[in-house]
Amino acid sequence: MPATKPALFSSVFKMKCPNCRKGNMFCTPHIFPLGRLLEMPDRCPNCNQKYELEVGFYYGTGYVSYGLSLGVLAIVFILYTLIFGLSYKDNSVFYALGAAVSITLLLQPWLMRMSRVLYLYMFVQYGKGSRMKTHHH
Ligand SMILES: [Zn+2]
Repeated sequence: MPATKPALFSSVFKMKCPNCRKGNMFCTPHIFPLGRLLEMPDRCPNCNQKYELEVGFYYGTGYVSYGLSLGVLAIVFILYTLIFGLSYKDNSVFYALGAAVSITLLLQPWLMRMSRVLYLYMFVQYGKGSRMKTHHH
């Protein structure tokens, strides 16, 4: 991997354009204000990559964020049980579940953004722009 190519993982995490991995995918750097949470520029400010590949492109992200939420839920649950332990003698299963659900809910705005990022990364490859041939309606 050339040194000039930003790593995939950190680019996704920083929500950078999938084509150049430099431009920001969202208008505001943070999830607040929530009213502007999903506000995106039409194109990448750095390389001009189109962000909404077609009208309604991001409708499919509902499934992505659902999957992400389940993943986070599972990870928090497992971490909780590793740190605090589980016992069938008390309510610790419910505490672990409660913690997992609370954290997943708190992360929801971030997960909604992240699902859009991952979705666009599925269709746009680094340095190649968008490839829509796998996309059907
Ligand atoms: Zn770009």
